[in-house]
Amino acid sequence: MTNLLIFGPPGAGKGTQAGLIAEKYHLAHLSSGDILRAELSHGELGAKIKAFQDAGELVPDSLVIAMMEKAILDTRNGGFILDGFPRTIEQSKALDGFLEVNGMKLNAILNLELSEAEATERVLTRGKTSGRSDDNAETAKARFTVYHNQTAPILEHYKAQGKVINIDGRPSIEEVSQTIFNELDK
Ligand code: ADP
Repeated sequence: MTNLLIFGPPGAGKGTQAGLIAEKYHLAHLSSGDILRAELSHGELGAKIKAFQDAGELVPDSLVIAMMEKAILDTRNGGFILDGFPRTIEQSKALDGFLEVNGMKLNAILNLELSEAEATERVLTRGKTSGRSDDNAETAKARFTVYHNQTAPILEHYKAQGKVINIDGRPSIEEVSQTIFNELDK
């Protein structure tokens, strides 16, 4: 079974590429951002999640870990691509333990590389149509700070396992996905 993880800064194109990969290889697309946003309309918890997202801060580990573990189990070993999770060392440790206990593993980590300037531009462009209240200049800045301080360090952990595939995130959507497909088909 193929289990993948797509990694990269906000705006790098993780969601778009994960969707295309999921379609081509028949994987479940597990986006932590989407799964959290689906909770927004649900009372008190939804209001708390929205406050973290609008500030560009991370939602507490315990909540995200529980939601993502449930989503992984719901795929019933059909293969998945994780998008937006794990985002902290704590989350990556929880994921490692969870996968091991359930007899699963990650086959590859796709690392979408894009500079902060280019990624910010994309986030702001997306904000014009996404309806996402966190796609604005101020929140984007906070999300990048979180990415550098808390998320990027996780990559070292996966690099040590030799599973990271670096992908240039600058070309068009089609070119990037073709590069990814070529890598995965190797
Ligand atoms: P992007 O990657 O473009 O920033 P996402 O949709 O992945 O967008 O995430 C939006 C927001 O959802 C984050 O800024 C954060 O508040 C919350 N979030 C998403 N994934 C996680 C996670 N794994 N841990 C904590 N918070 C998360």
